[in-house]
Amino acid sequence: MSDGIDRYVSEAAKAGEQRAELRKRVKSWKFDTIAVHGMYSLDEALTGGHGGVIEPIVLSTSQVFRDSDEMEAALSYRIPAWTYSRIHNPTIHYLEETLALLESYGADADASALCTSSGMSAIKQAVEPLVARLPGDSNPINFVSSAQVYGGSFQLFNVRMPERGVEPRWVAAPAEADAWEKQIDENTRFLYAEMPSNPQQGCFDVAELASLAHRHGIPLIVDSTIATPALLRPIEFGADIVVHSLTKTIGGSGSSVGGAIIARHGLVSRHLTDEQKGNYAMWLKLLPFRDSGPCLSPFSAYLFLCELKTLRTRVERLSRSAQKVAEFLARHPKVEKVDYLGLESHPMHQLAAKYMRLVDADEPMFGHLLSFNVKGTWEETRAVFDRLQLVVRATDLGRIKSVATIPAISTHQQQGDEGRKLANIPPNMVRLCVGGEATEDIIADLAQALAG
Ligand SMILES: *Cc1c(COP(=O)(O)O)cnc(C)c1O
Repeated sequence: MSDGIDRYVSEAAKAGEQRAELRKRVKSWKFDTIAVHGMYSLDEALTGGHGGVIEPIVLSTSQVFRDSDEMEAALSYRIPAWTYSRIHNPTIHYLEETLALLESYGADADASALCTSSGMSAIKQAVEPLVARLPGDSNPINFVSSAQVYGGSFQLFNVRMPERGVEPRWVAAPAEADAWEKQIDENTRFLYAEMPSNPQQGCFDVAELASLAHRHGIPLIVDSTIATPALLRPIEFGADIVVHSLTKTIGGSGSSVGGAIIARHGLVSRHLTDEQKGNYAMWLKLLPFRDSGPCLSPFSAYLFLCELKTLRTRVERLSRSAQKVAEFLARHPKVEKVDYLGLESHPMHQLAAKYMRLVDADEPMFGHLLSFNVKGTWEETRAVFDRLQLVVRATDLGRIKSVATIPAISTHQQQGDEGRKLANIPPNMVRLCVGGEATEDIIADLAQALAG
């Protein structure tokens, strides 16, 4: 190594110490403060940010280096650098830092984040190294997942994984720890569940499932897209990896597609090396992610950053409105059943109340997602759906606009009758994501659609 490289390495080490100091300070803040400022400090604004109040959008595909020594140090990962936007980028960096801080808020573990081009690519990148076959190993490989997962995740696990010899094992009722335990053997690589699930709002005991996974030396992965860190931070309860579709609640305005993986440092896995487990998100970023290329656009990262700043306020507002809408639907004679975690009648209400609490308020709160089954046939369900005038028909979720969909013909269409039965998606189910409109207007629209 030339002296020139040494100089950059020691310069970077000094900068690293300053960042660690800043991180400590940021970690002492409340959730909203972290969401608003993240690691974009005054110093950062004055150096990297041209003095801008808001994080800069760095669209440049690559970084310039002062000389060959700095280039070599950067490309060999001896100094932190962003180098090329497929690997890293300053705008994406601010988003990743904020997400990692918010997901590990209140936990006694540290975490890092990796942003990806979509929620599905986050899930794929997160699980891929866990199901890798080591040379010479011919043992079968499996993993255990809740059957109550997003339709795309179901496809990835149920179709794509078997194509490459990895067996998914399903748990129909994720709240029952025994059902998980029965499926685990020495070839199980990880446990996977959504909390709450989309659209059934299935729940499970996060702490209990994390300790079950750890007893077997495997990680627990939680898709926390619906809850967002404003309501639930699975790492605090022992989960190893959290995945998000940033496209949904976090990106409430609905202007970009993106995903994130947030992994605790030192995650549990019998199959990964110590290097992989130390900082899984960073290891993914520097190697497999770099080599496969599902990177987020810096422009989208900027949009997500803007949305994150108001996450807690937005989630609180949507949750309070969803509670009133659910109560209205529960009283309606044309509605057979309402599933909303905030209703005491929901079988998972108690469990959800234990885990889903508005951060820094410690008040149980249940998010914007609910579903209701129309009393009547599939045709009658479609007629109610087609009469909606304010609530938009779309396969979308977590929007600032109220959105409805019929899962059986949209999100859960690919998986067929069998898969839908397993996931408990009847044809008369309407999924409703309550938006930021005045609650009275949402209720009035539902009332006219149900009246026929
Ligand atoms: C939408 C969704 C995904 C997939 O995210 P994309 O950004 O659409 O790829 C994963 N999990 C859940 C719970 C979702 O709602």
